[in-house]
Amino acid sequence: MTTIKDPVSAEIAHLPAGAAASAVRSPSPGETQMSLARRGVITPAIARVAAREQVTPELVRDEVARGRAVIPANIHHDALDPMAIGIAFTCKVNANIGSSPLTSGVAEEVEKLRISLKYGADTVMDLSTGGDLDQIRAAIIGASPVPIGTVPIYQALHEAGSVEQLSIELLLAVIERQAAQGVDYMTLHCGVLRDHIPLTAGRVTGIVSRGGAIMAQWMASAGIENPLYTHYERVLAICRAHDVTISLGDGLRPGSIADASDRAQFAELATLGELTRRAWEREVQVMVEGPGHIPIDQIAMNVEKEIELCSEAPFYVLGPLVTDIAPGYDHITSAIGAAIAGTAGAAMLCYVTPKEHLGLPTAEDVKQGLVAYKIAAHAADVARKRPGARDRDDALSRARYAFDWKQQFALALDPETAERMHDESLPSEYFKNAEFCSMCGPSFCSMHLSRAVHGQGHADPAAGKPAPEPAAGTLAPDLAAAPVAFRSAEPHP
Ligand code: SF4
Repeated sequence: MTTIKDPVSAEIAHLPAGAAASAVRSPSPGETQMSLARRGVITPAIARVAAREQVTPELVRDEVARGRAVIPANIHHDALDPMAIGIAFTCKVNANIGSSPLTSGVAEEVEKLRISLKYGADTVMDLSTGGDLDQIRAAIIGASPVPIGTVPIYQALHEAGSVEQLSIELLLAVIERQAAQGVDYMTLHCGVLRDHIPLTAGRVTGIVSRGGAIMAQWMASAGIENPLYTHYERVLAICRAHDVTISLGDGLRPGSIADASDRAQFAELATLGELTRRAWEREVQVMVEGPGHIPIDQIAMNVEKEIELCSEAPFYVLGPLVTDIAPGYDHITSAIGAAIAGTAGAAMLCYVTPKEHLGLPTAEDVKQGLVAYKIAAHAADVARKRPGARDRDDALSRARYAFDWKQQFALALDPETAERMHDESLPSEYFKNAEFCSMCGPSFCSMHLSRAVHGQGHADPAAGKPAPEPAAGTLAPDLAAAPVAFRSAEPHP
């Protein structure tokens, strides 16, 4: 596991003495959270992040100044409640939404945003490629208290009509327009270089990043180096002006475990490290994107490599999927990898839905993906011993042992599903404080028996009820109506 080093690094040792923990002001055009943090300023956003993370404002300021954390906070995003992404803070989860050329519109995307927020998305990426992109994005930004990310090359291609018609002027104009709208972070595939493309030739799944594939095709058809790399200073100038955080895209990420950790992936990662340090010279916030599809035994190594090559810039990983055999369940295959990546030091996890590789996610797919990733991120926080991370686990466990079913539901990541599943067999209020559920039944409930051992339980497992334990044939209506299997089930071993 990566150890968090001294947050006050040599890079911020130049801060003025007594630098202004009290000097609070918001970034204005030309200032970024990083530029102010480097001057010792604790911005309102930094103070808010400190409160949310249960750490000191000085720690947040120093991490942002150092580049080990970002606060994606476009100066035009008025509805934003600032948050931070970095190894010193809780592991974050991103949800992707967005229209496709075939389906969805403004109302549908705002509904997906609402569901994403309901289930705890820390950031949301609008990956729309169809419909009125500016209108959809404006609606999403206006409704979102969490940072909004985009991939501007999608809109540039949408407006150009074909890769052959793309130009750097068009792409920069799109970046500028989205920045002025309030986009907090942008995935920019600046690190895919011409020399890297041949390294993908022997892959099983080639180039699977949409942005990476577009950039590679653009370079090949025009016979040019990556325009985002050659015009990187212009990109930085735009991002600095609006405090847009750059999310350096991993255009050559592996699309299968067979291609994991190959030369193409790591050649691009080395370039992303160079681009990270150039962004920091301009005081532009930056994070680095990562794979994709990685076998479990390579995940920690991948995180360590990013930390080394990219000077500890926050690592934002997609999954990774740890196996390729489960289409329809890739929220699970990838959440396994995400939990391991988060434990190893990844700062943000981009969710994967059950529909990955199969189709555009529905609202239900968004929910399923987010719940899987909130579990992964939380498991990583518990493993890394974040402040207060285990409190909710302990509270739920206490409620479980006390048979406080309503409290269990309230503390659950998905209360509605937890209550619905309980009530499928025992819907009556009668069973909301019973000392058993339909899994083992009243006679075999191990927690009820354990409580009795310690003198805590009720003699009647339907605690607090005047009636004796229902005997076979006289079960309460809910219990009698439940599947017979649960009543004969073996107790937990
Ligand atoms: S021990 Fe069995 S009956 Fe008791 S709460 Fe757990 S699953 Fe339900």
